[in-house]
Amino acid sequence: MDVLENVWERICDFCLRFVWDPIKHMDWKDVTDVLLLAVSLYILYRFFRTRRAGRVMLGLGAIVVFSVLVALLELPALTYIVRLFSASAFFCVIVIFQPEIRDALESIGNLTVLNPFSNRLSNKRMEEARSMARETVKAVSAMSESHTGALIVFEGLTKLGDCIQTGKPMDARVTSELLQNIFFNKAPLHDGALVIRDMRIHAASCVLPSARGNMDFGTTMGTRHRAAVGVTEVSDALVVVVSEQTGTVSVAQNGKLLRGVDEKTLFDILMTYVGGKTYLRQKRANMRHEYLQMMEELGRAEPPVATKNEAVEKEFERLFGSAAEEDSTPEGTEGQPNPTGGKKRD
Ligand code: ATP
Ligand code: MG
Repeated sequence: MDVLENVWERICDFCLRFVWDPIKHMDWKDVTDVLLLAVSLYILYRFFRTRRAGRVMLGLGAIVVFSVLVALLELPALTYIVRLFSASAFFCVIVIFQPEIRDALESIGNLTVLNPFSNRLSNKRMEEARSMARETVKAVSAMSESHTGALIVFEGLTKLGDCIQTGKPMDARVTSELLQNIFFNKAPLHDGALVIRDMRIHAASCVLPSARGNMDFGTTMGTRHRAAVGVTEVSDALVVVVSEQTGTVSVAQNGKLLRGVDEKTLFDILMTYVGGKTYLRQKRANMRHEYLQMMEELGRAEPPVATKNEAVEKEFERLFGSAAEEDSTPEGTEGQPNPTGGKKRD
């Protein structure tokens, strides 16, 4: 009974000293501090919840609770052992959470705020991107039809030096013929992954890390698909996989796999990945142009051209949102007249 009373007294004393007293003397700086800490802890919780390290955190939490209890009860031998371990706890945490800490720092480094120009391309670069996407789609379709296995990695902001070192260095323009040649199953470089850096073939025959997460790959997907997902778990790369077994085309990004991707979708995915906002703006302008043309062909409105265009523009905005969303005039689009720039419509 005495022991229980003693523990209760200590808990009360602890709460008074470390909870109630600080609350009483709080000013705006302390409130900001607490709020920022709460937000950081919530972000940490969300980050760890979906990862294996979440379980480790739970184990560590249990150890911390145990240490507090040992300190409150003043058990000499256990207190000594806990103190011994707590001295190196910081380094233990770094070693245990090394992959997660790296992922988190990489995600911060890849934030758009820190890379404001990463998804905006000049007209010339946009043309290069279109050519690369077109050639890739052409090669992927051909390889899908002939059941030629392929693994193509598009490097993002995270540099894949570790994987590239395991392969053979190259420096070539992306063409459909070259891609098919590399993955032709009797060619020396067909085994492994091809890495495209800065819209050029940078290395072939590279070994990628296998998937760490708990994605279900079923019975049809083996090491190639696991490697495709694996590299996207540790980087912001985009990977295109062609299955040798089924001919299915899949795309992996952020540790997820999209299966059965058709040619048009693949082109859009690649262009959005490489061209970012610039491509989306152009695509929207194209859609707008096609829509206006379609409405004019349907002859929905007969009044003079100016009024007719106003009517269809209103209808377009109702369906697809305001034109004001476009932050600048779109650049020229592939083989088509620029629908909003240069050409006077009214
Ligand atoms: P498929 O549907 O084409 O059969 P899969 O997912 O079933 O693909 P496997 O049959 O195991 O995978 O494919 C083996 C091939 O995948 C290897 O010959 C190699 O070219 C490639 N591959 C496997 N693991 C890796 C890796 N870690 N990095 C790069 N390439 C890999
Ligand atoms: Mg297989």
